[in-house]
Amino acid sequence: MDTKNKGFNSKLIHAGGFHDRLGSAVTPIYQTSTFSFESAEHGAQCFSGESDGYIYTRLGNPTIIDLENTVAELENGFGGIATSSGMAAVNAVYLGFLSAGAHLVSHNAVYGPSRAVMESLYPKFNIKSTYIDTTDLEQVKNAIRPETRLIFLESPANPTIGITDIHAVCKIAHEKGIPVCVDNTFCSPYLQKPLDLGADVVLHSMTKFINGHADIVAGMIVTKTKEHYKMLRSIMINVGCNMDPHQAFMTRRGLKTLAIRIDRAQQNALKVAEYLEQHPKVEWVKYPGLKSHPQYELAKKQMSGSGAMLSFGLKGGLSAGKTMMNNVKLALLAVSLGGIETLIQHPASMTHSKLTKEAKEKAGISDGLVRLSIGIEDIEDLIEDMEQALVKV
Ligand SMILES: *Cc1c(COP(=O)(O)O)cnc(C)c1O
Repeated sequence: MDTKNKGFNSKLIHAGGFHDRLGSAVTPIYQTSTFSFESAEHGAQCFSGESDGYIYTRLGNPTIIDLENTVAELENGFGGIATSSGMAAVNAVYLGFLSAGAHLVSHNAVYGPSRAVMESLYPKFNIKSTYIDTTDLEQVKNAIRPETRLIFLESPANPTIGITDIHAVCKIAHEKGIPVCVDNTFCSPYLQKPLDLGADVVLHSMTKFINGHADIVAGMIVTKTKEHYKMLRSIMINVGCNMDPHQAFMTRRGLKTLAIRIDRAQQNALKVAEYLEQHPKVEWVKYPGLKSHPQYELAKKQMSGSGAMLSFGLKGGLSAGKTMMNNVKLALLAVSLGGIETLIQHPASMTHSKLTKEAKEKAGISDGLVRLSIGIEDIEDLIEDMEQALVKV
């Protein structure tokens, strides 16, 4: 069914364009590595592109293509490229846009491994990078060099919840002919559409909100143009960071409830944020839906909801953070995010522990910072859990 002019929820359920001859209500799992041709001529046509028949699963598979088409439609992009993980998507974008001598500009609090791999692996290809606070447009302008070939944004950024003005950065970048990629994992296309804001490429760790059930690791790239699509698809195929059909099926299934999951989770998140903000043991709370967020107005303009991610600072630093971690009962003490269950983590001792003290400070990750990914549990139970853990801090 053509869902182009349908609403977001209808797209979540019906987009993808797959038709099953037997009438299967959902796109089946084509758990096969290879596809047989009808004849030598048909095989030749599949290879030349005259026929859109399938060849080999690393190149394309009906279950995976259904998911790629769906996410591309949700992001208003040209095409989607599914990858084995979010990090595979990040690296495919790096490899696609950066050649020897190139330079990347990115946010100093991007997802830890997105920065770690850039700073540890890419220098051996003579690729350089500058990490700055992209929420400050002056810093973005000053970081750009003649050899800058990609601006890599994440907004809201992890775990400081800093919000970058995507439209404004794209304007600065495009004046210099530099493409912009946005990691849209924290928002999903339900809350933010970077391509509509001017970005060239958007990527996701679908491990998070898109799948939403903490049972799959998966990634996706969506491009605005056919040229970028072809270039990045060829990288995915040649690097071999393709998705598996079963992974695609699971993700497509989770995706159907994206909007209702996020609606519920962000209702909970606002209530938790308001609760924490008035708590005497809490120094500050960062949540785009709170008026106290320094970029509250930008968030309202750029995002269609405040999301389910928030962070807060405990008075008492590292030991207070650890005490809180050890005393929550309902929230799971775990990294990752965007699932139906509430997760709590402490970046200074966990996800960002590899950063130097100085890098942590620059990225705004204080010792008492606690990050929450709010799930869809009952709000009374969530608040009660925070309350009983905070008493012990
Ligand atoms: C988790 C995450 C990634 C990496 O995704 P994986 O699926 O774990 O490889 C990239 N960016 C952001 C913002 C993430 O949260």
